[in-house]
Amino acid sequence: AQQKYAELRDLPASALCGSIVSLHMNAGLMADLPSLTGSGAEGVGLYRTELQFLVRSKVPRRAEQAALYSRILDAGKGKRVVFRTLDIGSDKVLPYMRPADEPNPALGWRAIRLGLDRRGVMRMQLQSLIRGAKGRPLSVMFPMIAQFEEFKAARKMVLDEIERERKLGHVLPSNVEVGAMLETPSLAFAPEAFFELVDFISIGGNDLKQFFFAADRENERVRRRYDTLNVSYLSFIGQIVGRCAEHQTPVSFCGEDAGRPVEAACFAAMGLRALSMRPASIGPVKHLLRQVDLDEIRTVIDYARTSGAQSVRPSVEGFLRERG
Ligand code: PEP
Ligand code: MG
Repeated sequence: AQQKYAELRDLPASALCGSIVSLHMNAGLMADLPSLTGSGAEGVGLYRTELQFLVRSKVPRRAEQAALYSRILDAGKGKRVVFRTLDIGSDKVLPYMRPADEPNPALGWRAIRLGLDRRGVMRMQLQSLIRGAKGRPLSVMFPMIAQFEEFKAARKMVLDEIERERKLGHVLPSNVEVGAMLETPSLAFAPEAFFELVDFISIGGNDLKQFFFAADRENERVRRRYDTLNVSYLSFIGQIVGRCAEHQTPVSFCGEDAGRPVEAACFAAMGLRALSMRPASIGPVKHLLRQVDLDEIRTVIDYARTSGAQSVRPSVEGFLRERG
C-alpha cells in the first residue's frame, strides 16, 4: 500500500467528475516537516503552534518562537503554511501554567478567549510570526472564534503588531492573511460582515463536532456516539460551505475526520475543496478521491438524507463497495 500511495504523491486528488480537492497536512513540530515533501501535501493547512509551548518547561522566548516559524517556512520552500495561534486550555494544558479551575474546561477559558484576555502572550506570538515570516507571506488563524467581535479584535492585534514592527524598522511579511477556525456552531451563523472580513476559514472538526453534538471529544463514553456522517452534521457542513461560497471566502477542513477517506469523500461531495490532515492520511485519501465521482456520492448522500437515515455511512460505504 505504501508503494501505491507513493506513486500518487505528485498527482492531484482529482475526482472522476473533474473536481480537484487540495490536500494539506497538519503539523506542529519541526519533526513533521520532512513529511511536507514526502507526503505530497500542497502545504500546511494547520500548524499547531502550541506544541512548541507544550514541550518546554517555560514560555519560549520571542526569538525562539520566531526562529521556529522561520525554519518552518524555510522547510516549506514557498508552500503555504497556516499558523494557528496558541490553542491552550481544555485538552491542551501547559505544564507551567496552572489550569484554571473550571467545571467545564472545553467550554471554558481557552484558545482565543485566553489570548484576548492575556494579550501579552498573544502579542509576543504575533511579533514572532511577523519576524519569522521576514519578507515572506504570512497566514495566521485564530482558534475557537465564537463570534465576530472576537475575530475583529484578534485581527486588529495582527494589524497593530505589523504597524509596530514597521515603526521598528523590521522587514514585514510580503502579504498577510488572517483567518478563523470555525469550531463552534455559532460562527456559522455570524453576520455577513464576518464572512466579508475574514480571509479564510478552516473548519476545526474535532471541536466543531464535540460542540455540535454536545459530546466531549475526550470522553470515551460519548466520543464515538455520534457519527461524523450523521445527516444533521453533514448538512451543517454543507451550510457552512454555502455561506463561505456566497462571500467567496476560502474554506477548508482540518479536523481528524479529514484524514478518513470515506469522510473526506463525503466532505468533498458537500462542496469542500481543501482538506488538511496528518501526513500519513494524504495517500489513502487521495487514492479514494481519485476513484470517485463526487456528484454520485452527493446523490447517495441526498438520497440517504431524504429517506430518513441517521447516518449516510451505510449508503456511502455500500455504494463504494459496489464500485469496488
Ligand atoms: C479541531 O478542533 O478540529 C482542530 C483541528 O484543532 P485541535 O484538534 O487542535 O483542537
Ligand atoms: Mg480545535
